[in-house]
Amino acid sequence: MENKVSFYNTLTKKVERFIPNEEGKASMYTCGPTVYHYAHIGNLRSYIMEDLLEKTLRYVGYDVKRVMNITDVGHLSSDADTGEDKMLKGAKREHKTVMEIAKYYTDAFFADCAKLNIKTPDVVEPATNCISEFIHMIETLMQKEYAYESGGNIYFDTSKLGDYYVFSSQNEKELLVGVRDDVEEDANKRNKSDFVLWFTKSKFDDQELKWESPWGVGYPGWHIECSCISMKHLGEQMDIHCGGVDNIFPHHTNEIAQSEAYLGHKWCNYWFHVHHLTDKSGKMSKSKGDFLTVSLLESKGYDPIVYRFFCLQSHYRKPLEFSYEVLDNMSAAYDKLVKRVGTLDRTGTPDKEKMASYRAKFEAALCDDLNSSMAVTVLYDMLKDDMTEVTKYALAESFDEVLSLNLTTAHAIREAENKVDAGLKQYVLAKIEERTAAKKEKDFAKADAIRNELLEKGILLEDTREGVKWKKA
Ligand SMILES: [Zn+2]
Repeated sequence: MENKVSFYNTLTKKVERFIPNEEGKASMYTCGPTVYHYAHIGNLRSYIMEDLLEKTLRYVGYDVKRVMNITDVGHLSSDADTGEDKMLKGAKREHKTVMEIAKYYTDAFFADCAKLNIKTPDVVEPATNCISEFIHMIETLMQKEYAYESGGNIYFDTSKLGDYYVFSSQNEKELLVGVRDDVEEDANKRNKSDFVLWFTKSKFDDQELKWESPWGVGYPGWHIECSCISMKHLGEQMDIHCGGVDNIFPHHTNEIAQSEAYLGHKWCNYWFHVHHLTDKSGKMSKSKGDFLTVSLLESKGYDPIVYRFFCLQSHYRKPLEFSYEVLDNMSAAYDKLVKRVGTLDRTGTPDKEKMASYRAKFEAALCDDLNSSMAVTVLYDMLKDDMTEVTKYALAESFDEVLSLNLTTAHAIREAENKVDAGLKQYVLAKIEERTAAKKEKDFAKADAIRNELLEKGILLEDTREGVKWKKA
């Protein structure tokens, strides 16, 4: 097949044509969530754009295998192996066990993904499933003398590598060494940039999950997870590794260091990174203001898919500024779009020539460094074009294999919901009238019974000076 997809490779700092290791196949690895809290919509931006990359590859004909880990152990508050274990922190906060927290937030993560039409990767593997694989890799690194024991922990020796800071230019490298100065000094390390592969001595003695290892009872570092889990399912040579730009350093830098030291050859050819979601003040974080989750957007009345629509209108390599004002505009544009598609006349046969020509334009946009906003423009242009409605409908259906905006289904679902709402309103109003009449006749038992009947159906009544008001509970 023709290799026509191109995207920016952080490793080479160029937009490159994607050429897989095996023709027609694409192996993809994604760093999964650390399941100690709900996912922030900023993190979900990365997953949306990675989903778009996967679907683009499938759309143009690649057989994709995608793997993702679930970090349920070993990720400390600082990515540079210091601070408290995030999972333990979550467990303490909610008075639950670490495994309970992991289960709850893994489910919550996939529920959010489902609402954003993010396909679940072919393989999802929790880190706690792979302890023996981590130990094997660390043992090999010890034998090859890339790792050393110090103060009870096992560290990766970054001085053994010709180029540890593989993603960075010379100036950035100096800065990164500086960054390391800011974090708490670990006296056990031979070099500032060394990182932990296995902990047996931690400041936090109450670590819940610990395993036997050749170096004592302990738990793995965060970075080793992704190297092992990706190799377990995708072999020793991988095509694409994805993540947010936050992961470039130290996480992905460390993944490459230990994987290539272990393998003795190049590991992954393409590194795909998605930029931050920001607000007016800069990067959004969990500590600042509203903790933006999919549930929060829903509680404010937004259809979560509008957030996906919003993400698709900007390039993955640019910061994306979030505001409710922009989301409102997106919401209005989305309503119009799905109404437009949903009301197209579907009788007749699609025009094959028109279909091919628009599919080519759509593919060209996505293949050009995943230009998703251009792909959306092609959708709008197509809807404006002078061709049969059934052709437009068929094209919208085809484009939605990648865009995943419920283009052909949303309108019908909304119409059905409106009908239900109209029916419900009629029913509630009749009940309110009945209750008012009962009250007038001083039949308070009946009035209360009606109130309770409505409550059971999730309807709350409120007696106000302007009359009875109602809302869904
Ligand atoms: Zn990772």
